[in-house]
Amino acid sequence: MDLLEHRGKSLFAGAGLPVLPSRVASTAAKARVAAVELGLPVVVKAQVKAGGRGKAGGIRLCRAEGEVAAAAADILAMSIRGQAVTCVLVEQAVEIARELYLAISSSRAQRGPLLIFSAEGGIDIEEVARRNPGALVRTPVDPLLGLCDYQVRDVVAAAGLAPELAGPGGTPAKQALAGAVRALWRLYRDVDATLCEINPLVFTEAGEVVCLDSKVTIDDNALYRHVELKAEAAAGAEDREARARQAGLAFVALDGDIGVLGNGAGLVMSTIDQIAAAGGSAADFCDIGGGARAEVVAAALDVILSMGTVSALLVSIFGGITRCDEVARGLVQVFGQARLDVPVVVRLDGNAAAEGRAVLAGARLPGLTVATGAAEAVRRAVAGAAAQAGPGARREG
Ligand code: GDP
Ligand code: MN
Repeated sequence: MDLLEHRGKSLFAGAGLPVLPSRVASTAAKARVAAVELGLPVVVKAQVKAGGRGKAGGIRLCRAEGEVAAAAADILAMSIRGQAVTCVLVEQAVEIARELYLAISSSRAQRGPLLIFSAEGGIDIEEVARRNPGALVRTPVDPLLGLCDYQVRDVVAAAGLAPELAGPGGTPAKQALAGAVRALWRLYRDVDATLCEINPLVFTEAGEVVCLDSKVTIDDNALYRHVELKAEAAAGAEDREARARQAGLAFVALDGDIGVLGNGAGLVMSTIDQIAAAGGSAADFCDIGGGARAEVVAAALDVILSMGTVSALLVSIFGGITRCDEVARGLVQVFGQARLDVPVVVRLDGNAAAEGRAVLAGARLPGLTVATGAAEAVRRAVAGAAAQAGPGARREG
């Protein structure tokens, strides 16, 4: 899950990384008020999950109050790489002395976190890598040892800072940069990120180090342990639908809290109706289609559970060309790796149902129950969701 710049920056601030005072605004008038509160000059920035906003005209420096509303209105009317801009970040502006690049990213090649630093920032890191590979520091971080002092020193040395350069409090610039590198590592680790990128990380004319941009991606598989990010998860519905399409699923997010997965649109729709009739409400419509293999089932669960809004999961399969044992293997594949934090109810009937039930029984997954028939499955899922939500939290009407 990608976070918007302003959300990433609030995580930065919480982790002790230096960010500038800022406000989020959804209208031009609110942007102007924010600018007055913050003090001019300000930078008005489009909040979309895409890089290169600067080049696309989605970032404007405003020196006078009169410029802010017009800049915000222009940006709010934009669409950047297919994403409509619905809010802007109004942030205090600084005089930039130098732009650097700092990131920690999950590297497939390293099979772990990789720290990347460049003394040249503000531009595409891929471009630096091509043009001047020597300017890059790339150092794998051992997830058990954590970031080591020598790695921090490598980064600081590569930055080539003058020893006498110091920020407003007299803190040497080298020390401020080292602190930022360590803070970024702690954040990456603590939020289960797959990417924490600052481009640019800048030194201001006053010798201060500041994160001017943020790009944070959280591992979807870890979202269940970040309740603080659940609102984002719900807001990311469109991304999820795109992901589901890629996996060949028919998926529609709904407002309720019972995740539904079935094979065939008719079965899924009738299951959603049955849930409503039993006093519950469905969180999604997810049809894995006919003949789905274990991988497709795993992808469907990933999409449903990444919503972070599910209190119970109901899997209803009537096996025809879909084999129930394939579905069962998909369930075991997912839940054998990730801890279940919501009750899961499975109904398997039809083709290879007995084999499927045997697979589930053999896996002994805690929190997963196998129901007999669709009606019982629905009843159990609704009861399970109500129990998760807690007494007194039952939906009225
Ligand atoms: P991106 O283009 O989507 O990566 O957006 P960034 O947040 O990285 O901003 C692009 C560029 O805008 C930066 O590299 C800076 O050069 C410039 N910029 C952003 N904030 C400020 C600021 O406070 N002052 C000045 N002078 N420039 C800024
Ligand atoms: Mn940037």
